[in-house]
Amino acid sequence: MSLDRKLYEGKAKILYTTDDSEILLTHFKDDATAFNAQKRGTIAGKGEINNAISRHLFELLEAKGIPTHFIDCPAPNQMRVRRVQIIPLEVVVRNIAAGSLCQQTGIALGTALNPPLVEFYYKNDALGDPLLTRDRLLLLQLATPYQMEELQASARAINEILKVFFNQCGITLVDFKLEFGFDRDRKLILADEISPDTCRLWDQSETDPNQRVMDKDRFRRDLGSVETAYQKVLQRVLSQNA
Ligand code: UDP
Repeated sequence: MSLDRKLYEGKAKILYTTDDSEILLTHFKDDATAFNAQKRGTIAGKGEINNAISRHLFELLEAKGIPTHFIDCPAPNQMRVRRVQIIPLEVVVRNIAAGSLCQQTGIALGTALNPPLVEFYYKNDALGDPLLTRDRLLLLQLATPYQMEELQASARAINEILKVFFNQCGITLVDFKLEFGFDRDRKLILADEISPDTCRLWDQSETDPNQRVMDKDRFRRDLGSVETAYQKVLQRVLSQNA
């Protein structure tokens, strides 16, 4: 009999403990939120799509030597993961200017960023996930200077792998958010998910700035066809991996 118990319910996923204390079960929900949960909705089929996309990207990264929390997927909307101590940081990598970077700096949407920008945000809903400076991050003791370098290097390495992969799918990886944790040996492990909820993805076969959007911006900006776009990302990811 299963001993699974709900450990935590987030905006897009529910985490359950399992009868193995080192393993958690993630349930991917169809629920979608944006703007710090001020906008809420559901995207039919999103849970299964994001679980499948995340699975393939974690497998790709593992194959390239990046340690991730991924174990396996016991059901279409479920992923078993290694239990890690999550670092309360959102590590954002940007290849092309979009979203909050444009709003906060005035840099034009679509500007190429060379080298890619790596940013740290404090994962804290009550504070609105603020952008951190290096000194604030250290002040809050969210990581040591060495760990911060390690996070930055890992995020850059992951970006290079994902950028090439998505490019092969005919998709431009504009930006994305990563979360990391420590395992019992204090080793850095990539956690959470990598999906159209957490990445900006532009279809290279579309030139129209709205038509090309294949990610959560379709939901954020009421562009419609959200599920179709997520489905298209999955199909391209699967056909690339076949
Ligand atoms: N992102 C995320 N979760 C967050 C904030 C951002 O997954 O809580 C992702 C977002 O989907 C985008 C990237 O991180 O791919 C950069 O987001 P940005 O800072 O531009 O914020 P946004 O415009 O999404 O508010």
